[in-house]
Amino acid sequence: MFEGLTERIASTLKSLRSKGRLGASDIDEIASELSEALLEADVALEVVKEFVETIKSRSLQSLAEATPSINPASQITEIINQELISILSGDGSRFTFSKRPPTVIMLAGLQGAGKTSAAGKLARFLKSQGNTPLLVAADLQRPNAVTQLQLVSESVKVPVFAPEPGNGVGDPVRVAKDSIIFAKEKLHNVVIIDTAGRLGVDQEMMAQAAAIKAATDPDEVLFVMDAMTGQDAAVTAKAFSSGVGINGIILTKLDGDSRGGAALSVARITGKPIRFISTGEKPADFDYFYPERMASRILGAGDIATLAESAKQAFDSDTAARLEKKFVEGDDFTLEDFLEQLQAMRKMGSFSKLLGMLPGAQSGAMKKQIEGLDDRELIRTQSIIDSMTPGERRDVKVLNGSRRARIARGSGRSVTEVNDLVERFQAAQKVMKQMRSGTGIPGAQMAGGPGMAGMPGLPGSFSAPGRGVGGASGGRGGSQPPKKKSRSGNPAKRAAQERG
Ligand code: GDP
Repeated sequence: MFEGLTERIASTLKSLRSKGRLGASDIDEIASELSEALLEADVALEVVKEFVETIKSRSLQSLAEATPSINPASQITEIINQELISILSGDGSRFTFSKRPPTVIMLAGLQGAGKTSAAGKLARFLKSQGNTPLLVAADLQRPNAVTQLQLVSESVKVPVFAPEPGNGVGDPVRVAKDSIIFAKEKLHNVVIIDTAGRLGVDQEMMAQAAAIKAATDPDEVLFVMDAMTGQDAAVTAKAFSSGVGINGIILTKLDGDSRGGAALSVARITGKPIRFISTGEKPADFDYFYPERMASRILGAGDIATLAESAKQAFDSDTAARLEKKFVEGDDFTLEDFLEQLQAMRKMGSFSKLLGMLPGAQSGAMKKQIEGLDDRELIRTQSIIDSMTPGERRDVKVLNGSRRARIARGSGRSVTEVNDLVERFQAAQKVMKQMRSGTGIPGAQMAGGPGMAGMPGLPGSFSAPGRGVGGASGGRGGSQPPKKKSRSGNPAKRAAQERG
């Protein structure tokens, strides 16, 4: 998401930095470049105009007040950052649970926006935080909507209240009302009501939504909106917001080929905040929306906070503690440890998606590297390790020719790929030793803490036998895009450089 926008903003900021002293004409230039970049990203014209005007006047003011010690380029970058956060924050409210459970969340949205999947993802997300949600099938119109919600409920292991068959049968207002009584009885602390979606926001849809709202007095009415539909979606959301009243937005399909404009437009046009985002088809591709993180991404500064959280979630605390202990005590880092880390990384989600959260990841060179990455390569690597005996994983030195041939056969890979993996693993082992005796653990902050000690060198070293990503950030400790070819002062990074 935001690739085009980020790339253009990055180049604008770069030309800004190269200028040193800035005058009013430079600000004009930046303003028009920003304008173009935002329009290209499908941000609504009125939003662009307002945004750029604010940036312009604040920048001019800051230039007038600037002292020589303050770098004007970084000051303007910070102004853009603040304004992005301000737009993306909508009315600034946050999702809050009701003091008197259950917290009632009503979902509305157009057909195909991803409402049913969002209901399941939201339920799963809240459940993972220790809540006891109940899904409610109050879309009794769309063919198979009830069945679809039942399937979603099974997949996320959250119960569903579905007393009516749907397909035009049953009263959705009654179902919604009854669901609250049911939730109180069964001690569900959150109720997520899926209401009817339509092809467009029409009077009938709004009347039904308003009736459900009146009957259930929801704490949150969230409009589910497909980011791919760009500005149109913002207009639809606004119509629904005026007609029924909403508290916020769930923005879906942010992983798609959207140009990112929807996120900026919808928050400004409706004046309501984006509460949650969906970034893929899997139940886990869902999170709170953080305006600061999104602004950081748009400005090409990555999203380290989300990356760190994914890492923490993927490594259960026992594994993290054990790997850290091993690392600190100087035990050998084995292929078994590596396999464990690979598995944790797969839990974290798509590899290229993760890398996309790194600073500079949307810039040209880095983007190419990431696009060239294939998540299936991680799986292939894992299949090779799976075909080894525990003894072989603990000590790769026993891997003679015939063992390697057996592993290749067992995993359906070639002997060259097996050799490549072993070679890369041994190189990484060496790096681990150097890191232990060296000055620091590169990327430990990036990866979310000491539990990730072993991670940094690995993605680059192992993901792709014969086609590693060492040239991308993974092999360089993951915190910076590659800049120049100087030798790193950090022993681990240097070894990675020499290797790759
Ligand atoms: P509804 O008609 O609004 O209930 O939409 P659905 O929940 O049935 O979703 C419509 C389609 O969009 C399905 O194929 C979903 O898998 C897909 N979808 C939903 N959310 C996302 C997302 O965040 N990313 C992607 N790539 N697809 C999504």
